[in-house]
Amino acid sequence: MIAARGAGVIARYRAFLPVNDATRVVTLGEGNTPLIYSPRLSEIVGRGARVFVKYEGLNPTCSFKDRGMTVAVSKALEHGARHLICASTGNTSASAAAYAARAKLDCVVVLPAGKIAAGKLLQAVAYGARIVAIDGNFDDALRIVRELGRRGDFAVVNSINPDRIAGQKTAAFEIVDELGDAPAYHLLPVGNAGNITACWAGYGEYVSARKSTRTPRMIGFQAAGAAPIFHRRVVEKPETVASAIRIGNPASWERATRAVEESRGAIDIVTDDEILAAQRWLAANEGIFVEPASAAPIAGLIKCCDSSRNPVCSLAQIEPESAIVCTVTGHGLKDPDAVRIPEIRAVSANPDEVLRSLER
Ligand SMILES: *Cc1c(COP(=O)(O)O)cnc(C)c1O
Repeated sequence: MIAARGAGVIARYRAFLPVNDATRVVTLGEGNTPLIYSPRLSEIVGRGARVFVKYEGLNPTCSFKDRGMTVAVSKALEHGARHLICASTGNTSASAAAYAARAKLDCVVVLPAGKIAAGKLLQAVAYGARIVAIDGNFDDALRIVRELGRRGDFAVVNSINPDRIAGQKTAAFEIVDELGDAPAYHLLPVGNAGNITACWAGYGEYVSARKSTRTPRMIGFQAAGAAPIFHRRVVEKPETVASAIRIGNPASWERATRAVEESRGAIDIVTDDEILAAQRWLAANEGIFVEPASAAPIAGLIKCCDSSRNPVCSLAQIEPESAIVCTVTGHGLKDPDAVRIPEIRAVSANPDEVLRSLER
């Protein structure tokens, strides 16, 4: 029996998650996000392919991080933690702050100063987290958080916490449950590389449980200015408009590399211009507004269909009728500065003036 919609991923996928009768479940009804068929992306791929967009921006704090956070915070509570801590490019802090509030736990978020998208910082403030900004980037923040975790005062809820990865597997379960089997390809953005690791684990577990007959090729996209896995070296000063994947030394690097190899997938890069163009395109053509990092797999899909651009993984000769899933990880409203609002001049309040202004 599948639990009711909105009951959260632990209720729905309990048998696959590290919870027991002693675990008090902290949930905000995460998961169960729409898998939206995209006729226009399907057309770009051709050959009868069906492309679906998994819209993770519709989680309670508007990113996929909530899937892992419900498990991480429930387990922290079970283990008697009173203080949570995380490093964040923004979405982990928003999610941790919300679930901590729900569980009545203290939450400290360590952020790279001046690098957090406005909507995400707003969320951490609204949910009542204690915020520390550091002169440094995400990788520095994570190093500090790991150290404070080792000292024993805080429970770390970054994706180095296996409970986070466990919860994030549920995105793969939902995709299989909805499509009836795994897709041929799963495209997603890669930052700290927890999500590609988690989804791959989820697909594997579903095959073992005989809920699916196959696994997809995992295709991850990094921003060109923050592409350590693609270039096989640490990036000291990662730069990209896609702040959620502005990471130079991913925590799950090795596991992500293994996921890509085992799945016969690939890691590729997309430029900031391609990311922003894909973000606009997805909003204007499919009505799906996502933050820049989430547009990376859309830019990537377009790149993979264009053999003149030498993609690491070509979809030009894809098996006919294949299903392709793109995870779009966070909501567009989180990063309002990524979209330029044109100057909008007021006209007099009468219908003729409104029509005249439309003609200009
Ligand atoms: C966290 C995040 C990512 C990157 O996920 P990783 O698990 O760190 O690879 C991508 N997009 C958004 C919106 C995120 O919040």
